[in-house]
Order: sequence, then C-alpha cells, then structure tokens
Amino acid sequence: MILANANVVDVVGGEVRWDSAIKIDGAGSITQIGNSTSVRSDAHEEVIDLAGRFLFPGLISCHTHLSVVFPFSQTDPLENPAVTAFRAAQRAREALLCGITTLRSVHEQNQVDFALRDAARGGWFEGPRIFGAGRALSRPEGHGQGSACSYAEEYEGFYQAALNELSDGADHLKIFITGGLARAGEKPESPEMSDDEIRGVVQAATEHDTYVVAHAGGSEAIQQALRLGVRSFEHGYVMDQETVDAMAAKDVFYSPTLCVTRSESWMRARGFEEASIQNCLAASERHLESAKLAIRTGLKMTNGTDYPPGDLVDGVPAALHELFLMHEAGLSTILSLQSITSTAAALLNQTNQLGQIREGFMGDFVAMEGNPLEDPQHLRDIDFVMQGGKTIVNI
Ligand SMILES: [Zn+2]
Repeated sequence: MILANANVVDVVGGEVRWDSAIKIDGAGSITQIGNSTSVRSDAHEEVIDLAGRFLFPGLISCHTHLSVVFPFSQTDPLENPAVTAFRAAQRAREALLCGITTLRSVHEQNQVDFALRDAARGGWFEGPRIFGAGRALSRPEGHGQGSACSYAEEYEGFYQAALNELSDGADHLKIFITGGLARAGEKPESPEMSDDEIRGVVQAATEHDTYVVAHAGGSEAIQQALRLGVRSFEHGYVMDQETVDAMAAKDVFYSPTLCVTRSESWMRARGFEEASIQNCLAASERHLESAKLAIRTGLKMTNGTDYPPGDLVDGVPAALHELFLMHEAGLSTILSLQSITSTAAALLNQTNQLGQIREGFMGDFVAMEGNPLEDPQHLRDIDFVMQGGKTIVNI
C-alpha cells in the first residue's frame, strides 16, 4: 500500500514533510517515507493519492467507557454480556470512523473491552485498537457503585481483584480514589480508598509490568495516590498548585476530561438526570482552573472524554471537542496535537509503535485538507482514516 501526494505532519518536531509518499507493508507497518521517486510501488500495489492532504497520526483517545449506559441509573449489573458487547461495539465503530484508531478504556461492564480487542485481532470486528482495563476496581459504596465494577475492600481484596482483571486480560488497572459528579450528593474531592487498598492494586500492576490509572477528583487523594505509585490521573476537578507540582515531579500523565463539565447539550440529548447535569455544570469553572494550572505547570496532558469519543458534542466528535477545550484553556497547538497522538502513545507504553508517522510505526492515519499545525480546528475536516494499512474511510 502506498499513500502518495501527502504532506506528512510530524507531531513531535512540529514540522511538515511536504510532498511525501509512504509505503505500508502487509502487516500494516510503515516501511518507507520518501518522495514520489524514492518510494516505488510494486506491481499491483494499491496507491491512494491524497491530493496534497495533511497526513496526521491516527487519533488516540485515553479515557473511554464504550459500554456505559446513559443515564447511569439505568445500568443493569446483570446484563447479558452479548448485549453489552453490541452497545460497546457500535460506539467503538463510530470512534474509528472519526479517526480514533486506538483507544484506552478505563472500565467496561462485563469486560467487553477484552472481547472487542480480541474480536478485532481475530478479524471479526473492525474497531479501534483497544487497550483495556476490564472492570474498574471500586469499594462497594464508592464511585463505581451501580456501574458493574469489581468491588473489593482492604489490601488483600483489592490485590486479588486486580490480579483477576489482569489474568482476564487487562492492559492496565483502573481505580476510583475519590467520588465523582455522576450522582447528586457525591463529592469529587472526598478520598475513597485507604493507602493499603491503593497499595494492593499498585502491587498487582507492578508484578505484571503495567500501571494504575485513577479516577481522581481532588488534591488530597491525588497526593496520596502519587505517594503510592499511581501513574495516570483522570479528571482532577479540584486541584491546587501544590498537587499539580507534585504530579509534575513524578512525571505522571493527566487527562482533564474537560468534556465532562462542558457538554450540556449532549447530556440533555442523552437523557442525563437533572441532578447529574447540575453537578457537572456547577463544577465546570473550578475544573477549568485546575486544568489551566496543570497546563501552566507543564504536566503531560492526554486526551480523554469519559463519554464515547466518537459521539458528536456540538457537532464535533467528543475527542475533538476535548482537544479544542484543552487548546482554548491554554495548551499550545503542538501539545494539544500531541495529547491525542504521541503523548497518548507514551501513556500506553507504545512510544515505538503508535502516535507518530515514522518508519517502523503502525500505519494508522487520518488526513484533512488544512494544516493542523497552523490550526487544530482543521481536524474537523478529517476525510480519510487508515488503521494498520487498512482503509477505513476513503477520500
Ligand atoms: Zn470515566
């Protein structure tokens, strides 16, 4: 497969490689990047002429729940896993069509992320490349209550629950260290797990050479989890400078998920309960301030939506809505682009495979007519998607 006539965007160097051609082998990897004379097609090799489009790495969404039910109160913890999988598969497919070639899920009912991931590997399903947590680990009365999580208590309970997700196929482990905004009366700042409970999960992750991602509303619990070795933090609705500095010192990743408190029209269309909507809106200013602190302090920012990343919010896929919100909050253009490509790949421990257009990397791309390095808004016009050398959306 050859992609011809492409202006290749280097999201790390912030440069464009003009008038390029890219060769992708049968296994879906990029084998050569050059120009129309140096990159030659073999007999019968397919060539796609991108007509001067900007070729950008496939998008990576880092905080997804494909199986979630809206409103949350309608979740049936005993749902047949096949039904869960159909719902999740539809959202996965929508995400891929928007250009999300890889996603990280951070709690799925019935571990359907594993099923979709394995079905895609088997060639029975076409969706984003999935890195999955399976079920999140939660205390029985914690934030995950009613969401079909894996419930545990104390060191041994959390350690065993974590080992169960890992042996079922988890790529990383997800915990809720504070309350959230989903239910009226919940407090996103309140810590929910003891030191020992977090320790149990971090221990299981370390033994399996992976990491822990935490739903984290406020400063106190974030500082606790930082001390105990959590590597990836989500939401950060209420963070102070001291906490953000501690996160920077540990070089952890942060997905602000600004979408959560800035998607009112979408929430109304999905039938969210009024109390949830008001919780989210009431938190939005403080949430934005926290994200701005993180941006100014230089935390490693990643793109996460919480909502299905391919769902349209105010006319754009949620993942792009999030990218634009982070950009408006002060994240530079290049770091905004990296939050959904190379920084996201680093979070997934895929720095040598995903998130950039380079020889040896996977052939995951989106393309559009305008240069996203000049204005990320050009990503609205994605009209070509390729995943592992396979055309998903053709021009
Ligand atoms: Zn979430």
